[in-house]
Amino acid sequence: MIIDCHGHYTTSPRQHEAWRADQIAARGEGKAAPPRPTVTDDEIRASIVNGQLKLQQERGTDLTIFSPRAAGMGHHLGDASTSEAWAAACNELIHRVCTLFPRNFVGVCMLPQTAGISPGNCIAELERCVLQYGFVGCNLNPDPSGGFWKDPPLGDRYWYPLYEKMVELDVPAMIHVSAACNPAFHTTGSHYLNGDTAAFMQCLTSDVFKQFPTLKFIIPHGGGAVPYHWGRFRGLAQDMKLPPLTEHLLNNVFFDTCVYHMPGQELLAKVIPVRNILFASEMIGAVRGIDPETGHHFDDTKRYIQQLTLPPADKDRIYEGNARQVYGRLSAQLARQFASAPT
Ligand SMILES: [Zn+2]
Repeated sequence: MIIDCHGHYTTSPRQHEAWRADQIAARGEGKAAPPRPTVTDDEIRASIVNGQLKLQQERGTDLTIFSPRAAGMGHHLGDASTSEAWAAACNELIHRVCTLFPRNFVGVCMLPQTAGISPGNCIAELERCVLQYGFVGCNLNPDPSGGFWKDPPLGDRYWYPLYEKMVELDVPAMIHVSAACNPAFHTTGSHYLNGDTAAFMQCLTSDVFKQFPTLKFIIPHGGGAVPYHWGRFRGLAQDMKLPPLTEHLLNNVFFDTCVYHMPGQELLAKVIPVRNILFASEMIGAVRGIDPETGHHFDDTKRYIQQLTLPPADKDRIYEGNARQVYGRLSAQLARQFASAPT
């Protein structure tokens, strides 16, 4: 089985995101948000059959761990109550996709984060998504201010209430920023990769995994700059008298394969142990074009993994085994969804 651990619902029916614009506009005018729009099952089916499902089938992957559009989370917009309503709407839509396509999608939730508001505020939505919807993880934004980094680093006790709940529920977090509202940063070209790199260093300089030995983070986009600069991170840890990174971080931190060229994928597989790498493409996402050097889509990452000189057993771990370990609830949830699926 080929499990893509990083996909967002970037093709949701238009009225869903239109409502978000109306919600934020209404708040600006001091009015109540309008009622949520109707989204039919047929509209959801069309958006998936002509979108992510089509690419799964064309590229030969089986399952996507699916979450709301990341740049659309917009935690810097509105306030805690608008974030709650928006997260609830987005997560409900993901649940409907997983119910309509139980063999192809398993849910991960966005959290109703707001800069300066305790992450404990996200617990109710996380519990609802995991216990009622059968979601297997969450996307955790390390910078809800959208590029101004106003919240404490991920190792700070500020985040502990959420970590306690994640550990209790046995769900990992993909550390994933949303859109940048700071014009110095391009959302997917710099803010995403900055977020990945900063999050890794925040973990390195903290004892968060001593406090939470079973807490798991997936750092997406191939880990930002981390694998390329692994020597720097190892050296910094050594200067700080910290244990080797394999011991200090790699029981808890994992990287996905959203690296859109072969040399980057080779470097990732060379530097990071196989057990810490999870297959992902982030399709349909930030980079949608065809690479003229290969004739294939940049984000068709399965092609790169196929070309790696790794033993088949290692590739199986990257494609499936590691995802089943990191997402502790995935195997049981898949069994439930397959049992509910039409034959
Ligand atoms: Zn993403």
